[in-house]
Amino acid sequence: MPCGLAYPMHRLPSQSIVNRFRVASLLLLAKWLLVPTALATLVWAVLHRDKLMTVISGGIALVVIIVTIIQWIIANRTRCPLCLTPSLAKKNCSKHRNARRLLGSYRLRVALSILFRGHFRCPYCGEPTAMEVSERRRHHH
Ligand SMILES: [Zn+2]
Repeated sequence: MPCGLAYPMHRLPSQSIVNRFRVASLLLLAKWLLVPTALATLVWAVLHRDKLMTVISGGIALVVIIVTIIQWIIANRTRCPLCLTPSLAKKNCSKHRNARRLLGSYRLRVALSILFRGHFRCPYCGEPTAMEVSERRRHHH
């Protein structure tokens, strides 16, 4: 635990669950990058009446659909260790009063925090969780 941290973070029960959070975050980020790309190529294709670009934008749109489905399946299994709500899935549950959004999305904020800072704050219960496996204390000092 790094010094200066005011409160201890929660941890995840196993490495496979840590990986699951990372994969769900990556897929969410991929979706956020692919949707504008698909729209941009579609606009380009329409403006220039470019058949190849139409096919490419259709291909990207197909990838977006596949990524969305896989992300949905994995995200529903990324449960916050505290409130057991899937933090990376779209839920209509009420959010914590301190929960903040990024570009209008709670999930995007959680995903970026997991990928770049190694921890996240659950938007539902407001508790912080580190991307680390909780270990049983072996020694008592
Ligand atoms: Zn929670």
